[in-house]
Amino acid sequence: MVAVDRTLPSDESRALFELVQDLCAKELAPRAAEYEAAERFPREVFRTLGQAGLLSLPYDEQYGGGGQPYEVYLQVVEELARHWLTIGLGVSVHSLACYGLANFGSEEQKGKWLPGMLGGDQLGAYCLSEPQSGSDAAALTTRAVLSGDASVYTVNGTKAWITHSGQADFYTLMVRTSDNGAKGISALLAEGDTPGMSFGKPEQKMGMRGSVTAQVLLDGAQVPAERLIGTEGQGFSIALSALEAGRLGIAACAVGVAQAALDAAVEYATARQQFGRAISEFQGVGFMLADMATSVAVGRAAYLAAARRRDAGLPYGTEAAMAKLFCTDMAMKVTTDAVQVFGGYGYTADFPVERYMREAKVLQIVEGTNQVQRLVISRTLTRP
Ligand SMILES: Cc1cc2nc3c(=O)[nH]c(=O)nc-3n(C[C@H](O)[C@H](O)[C@H](O)COP(=O)(O)OP(=O)(O)OC[C@H]3O[C@@H](n4cnc5c(N)ncnc54)[C@H](O)[C@@H]3O)c2cc1C
Repeated sequence: MVAVDRTLPSDESRALFELVQDLCAKELAPRAAEYEAAERFPREVFRTLGQAGLLSLPYDEQYGGGGQPYEVYLQVVEELARHWLTIGLGVSVHSLACYGLANFGSEEQKGKWLPGMLGGDQLGAYCLSEPQSGSDAAALTTRAVLSGDASVYTVNGTKAWITHSGQADFYTLMVRTSDNGAKGISALLAEGDTPGMSFGKPEQKMGMRGSVTAQVLLDGAQVPAERLIGTEGQGFSIALSALEAGRLGIAACAVGVAQAALDAAVEYATARQQFGRAISEFQGVGFMLADMATSVAVGRAAYLAAARRRDAGLPYGTEAAMAKLFCTDMAMKVTTDAVQVFGGYGYTADFPVERYMREAKVLQIVEGTNQVQRLVISRTLTRP
């Protein structure tokens, strides 16, 4: 693997990173190709990561979190994705699912549920998208009606494309509690065994086949009213605030996948001989490797710059959108170039680069497509 020169801020974070590298080598690398080919969800790997404290890194230590800055958390996500995107993205989605309660929940709610959610055994899902509302997320129609005695919400509707659907222990659900557009959306924290909640058949995906993506079906689902996060009508701002942080996770995943493609391409290009020498010695290949390495380093710098703004308490939404846009487009290009470096062998399942190329594609789509990121960025230019 190509050496990555990281700037971790403390001895504690350097020790943490060594633990992550060890787990990646022992638990992720030996499984990734096999599980992806078999479309097998690695629940036990998430448990191992949870026991090591890696499912709660950016959250408050008071509730069982790791108390790590985003700068550190995201580099961990990157390293996990470098070895297996299903895991890196899964950790990022779990963080996204915890975000609403951690940042908008009452002290009582946090005390009651957050330690369990951050404890390592549980896995979360974040449910915003619906079959008819993707980019236009505020058009969601899943309806929650409060009972006469205000004790329980009855929820009807379908959530689509949900990562960890059917595998997760808790679901952060964005639901409609009034017809007042984006202001009529509320956030509920549903348990996995909520009566009236069931799960669709997993989608047959281009890549990341080890990760389950399926609908969440709500047919008179009964969610206790005490599980409303924030106030009624606050759900869409909670969802957007979570996505701002989540996009940095996607950017870090993209850098991880691109780094993995670069690692493989460098190794192959130095070993593969044509015309009596290593193909890396041909400028056409060497320059491609140089461009790939430069792009990966710039992508890492972009997400870290946004993360450091967040850690400093500064606004970081535009920078997060830029990092998500740049890093995921970059990962698509770098993984495609890696296949090129491998020639015909790159087009087969004998080497991992075709998988990286398929995996990179989804990162341009999730948590706001890259067209939506451009909308977010251009609005800050034209409507300051
Ligand atoms: C593997 C996977 C995992 C996912 N996990 C989750 C999850 O855990 N939770 C969750 O809530 N969602 C999840 N999603 C859903 C994902 O966030 C949506 O797919 C995404 O937001 C796009 O929505 P859509 O698919 O409905 O596409 P659409 O919104 O229908 O967009 C179709 C095309 O039109 C473009 N477009 C739409 N509007 C505009 C516009 N105004 N300007 C320019 N272009 C536009 C889009 O960029 C896109 O190219 C997941 C999706 C996938 C594939």
